[in-house]
Amino acid sequence: MSLNLKSLISVLNAKCEGLENDVFIDHISIDSRSLQNGSQTLFFALTGVNNDAHLFIPDLIEKGVQNFVVHYIPKELPGKANFLVVENTLDALQEFAAYYRNLFHFPIIGLTGSNGKTIVKEWLNFLLSPDYNIIRSPKSYNSQVGVPLSVIAINEKHNLGIFEAGISTVNEMAKLEKIIKPNIGVLTNIGSAHDEGFLNLVQKIDEKLLLFKDCPVIIYQKTEVVDSCLTQFAAEYMMHPRKLFSWSFTDKSADVFILKKESKNDHTNIQYQYQNETFALEIPFSDSASIENAISCLLVLLHFKYDQTTIQNRIEMLYPVRMRLEVKNGINNCSIIDDSYSSDFQSLKIALDFLESQTKKNASKTVILSDIFQSGFSNEELYSKVAQLIVDNKINRVIGIGATISSFAAKFPNSQMFQNTAAFIQSIESLNFQNETILIKGARSFEFEEIVSLLEEKTHETVLEINLDAISHNFNYFKSKLAPNVKMMVMVKAFGYGNGGLEIAKLLEHHKVDYLGVAFADEGISLKNGGIKLPIMVLNPESTSFPSIIQYQLEPEIYSIKGLNAFLKIAREKKLKDFPIHIKIDTGMHRLGFEENTIEELIETLKGNSTVRVQSILSHLATSDDPKHYDFVNKQIALFEKLSSRLMNELNINPIRHILNTSGISNFPDSQYNMVRLGIGLYGVSNDPAEQKYLENVGTLKSIISQVRNIPAGDSVGYGRRFMANKETKIATIPIGYADGISRLWGNEVGFVNIKNQKAPIVGSVCMDMLMVNVSEIDCKEGDPVIIFGESPTVIEMAEALKTIPYEIMTSISQRVKRVFFR
Ligand SMILES: *Cc1c(COP(=O)(O)O)cnc(C)c1O
Repeated sequence: MSLNLKSLISVLNAKCEGLENDVFIDHISIDSRSLQNGSQTLFFALTGVNNDAHLFIPDLIEKGVQNFVVHYIPKELPGKANFLVVENTLDALQEFAAYYRNLFHFPIIGLTGSNGKTIVKEWLNFLLSPDYNIIRSPKSYNSQVGVPLSVIAINEKHNLGIFEAGISTVNEMAKLEKIIKPNIGVLTNIGSAHDEGFLNLVQKIDEKLLLFKDCPVIIYQKTEVVDSCLTQFAAEYMMHPRKLFSWSFTDKSADVFILKKESKNDHTNIQYQYQNETFALEIPFSDSASIENAISCLLVLLHFKYDQTTIQNRIEMLYPVRMRLEVKNGINNCSIIDDSYSSDFQSLKIALDFLESQTKKNASKTVILSDIFQSGFSNEELYSKVAQLIVDNKINRVIGIGATISSFAAKFPNSQMFQNTAAFIQSIESLNFQNETILIKGARSFEFEEIVSLLEEKTHETVLEINLDAISHNFNYFKSKLAPNVKMMVMVKAFGYGNGGLEIAKLLEHHKVDYLGVAFADEGISLKNGGIKLPIMVLNPESTSFPSIIQYQLEPEIYSIKGLNAFLKIAREKKLKDFPIHIKIDTGMHRLGFEENTIEELIETLKGNSTVRVQSILSHLATSDDPKHYDFVNKQIALFEKLSSRLMNELNINPIRHILNTSGISNFPDSQYNMVRLGIGLYGVSNDPAEQKYLENVGTLKSIISQVRNIPAGDSVGYGRRFMANKETKIATIPIGYADGISRLWGNEVGFVNIKNQKAPIVGSVCMDMLMVNVSEIDCKEGDPVIIFGESPTVIEMAEALKTIPYEIMTSISQRVKRVFFR
């Protein structure tokens, strides 16, 4: 890409002053953290309900970015960079992408549907890549932001595009259609579920079909509803001739009629009729979703007029698609980002940004990279670009694997090259991996999964997966409930409610929260050691920890005269001035805090004192989640108002005041004062079922099946023989037990785990490290994944059954369970 910024002014309908010289743009960005932003970057400052990228512009200018599309020019910046001012920066990004798309004239496949888009896209890419230079949406970039970013990556060398479009409500597809402008439409599984955001199935289909408004070919599974929607659609968008190319298991009038389907273990044989001939095809999957997705791909290959042998040879090689970048703990204190199934230039850029966001302070960055296929560039050009990316991203060492990348070794600083994966594995010991964040990225044929398994820390198979995007979503949800200028403290005590302290704190720092809250000083110290710069309040500072609180610049909550005097003594010895402290008032919780009758003495002690500064005054509600006790809450708030006002008046100070926790934010919106303290809500739990719908699940506790066996009627399972089989029963053993935090009360058929979306009741007692489940009704085998909690069962359901609260379930998951973060 090389575009003259001036020419974009009219495309974006922007206002721009003083842009005299020609400025050329070769990169588009919306991510302020990316190290790929440079002087030729055009940065679109997107604004969400809660995020405003305009805030990052000064940082970006300092880093050398010169060109911005903005909604307003931030104060003091006019003249410091080129600003294209538009009404709405997201609209502008979309208009830019539509304009850019129209500069190219090769065929584009557009995919939409309720399920399977990303898989069909990845598979089509695999099936067609021997013959085309393909540009496709990376991962599942299919949203209002993802689609423009995908399309912007097209270059002159591509000759086929595959883009997916995902929508959640009406009026969204029209925008995506303009950007993708597909010539071949593929409608993947539409689902019968009633989706929120649409009135009914017909409206959902109608909206999705809009992607194909000007599309000469539409590929789809023939059903009555879709056919009737298409008839209506054809009448509305007269675009002749349009070819409908359909398939069906039941309707002989479909263009491709599947006569026969036979699944065995891990593959399926189908027979299909096409143009009056019958053909056989083996699909290397046995589940119905994969079969449907493979048939969608088959129709695309038939449309491209591939012969039967090629179709069979390629479909046979389809593989399970991994949709996301996974972060794993590695050996010797390394972290591993596993992207071992793809290597193309565009996804390398995304993976490098992710690497940057995951790298801990003082860790160095390593990239293990295979030869890259289908970039559209010549090798010389390609590896020059890759080397430049590596330099821009300040990668400390590069390991190239493959004959081609090896031959360009000279372009890469600090590189080691290997001809193939086996040669690398032979040398793995001598490469001495330690304290590194390692991005492992390779084409499938290089089998980098072997490298991942060698570098991965070996632990047992149970993991708690944390969805960082869900955390961002929940954060934004609660942020949107705050009045302007109300600050946000997020509680990350107890390892972020069991979900992982440092990783979550890093994410929150990115979201520019104002404060973090922890329970004890050592929790705060480990965050500071991990590089967190946000101010951190310590709820329960023991006096022995005061020196380290001062050393690490943590901010203590002070809740008694005794504690205040002890802190003042140390603070005076260290000759501190204005050290921030937080005064806790007890308004009825009766846990910690100054009571009304100690306020006088508190004021006396603080008056004229310059050693410490009252940074905030807070109190804690005892029951903000229970309408029965709202009168009590109102009394607490009134007492807080009275005592905090008195402190402020008599000390003549103007500190931050805060009293609301999560359910307080939801139920007492008038008492936000200057800050709120968000806890459980961030981790995806609300006390209110109506509100719960708006939150996303954060943690999924997963394991696998270690062993499966059939036991005859009359046999028992586990300690104390608490399960007796009354008929032949299939039992699976899962390697997670009470030492991992699963309550024994959840055993003996009270609770269940989720295997293949079915409930498997826990039979017998939960053991220390294992539990057994009844899988008589479930088609499953050793090694299959198991969900202990997550979307189903939810921690809320578990807590109800166990007569406790979600907080306890979440914080009980023991530290031996590996935490894995993903977005
Ligand atoms: C834990 C805690 C919170 C957060 O409570 P949630 O109910 O999880 O939102 C807020 N304030 C104090 C003092 C806390 O201890």
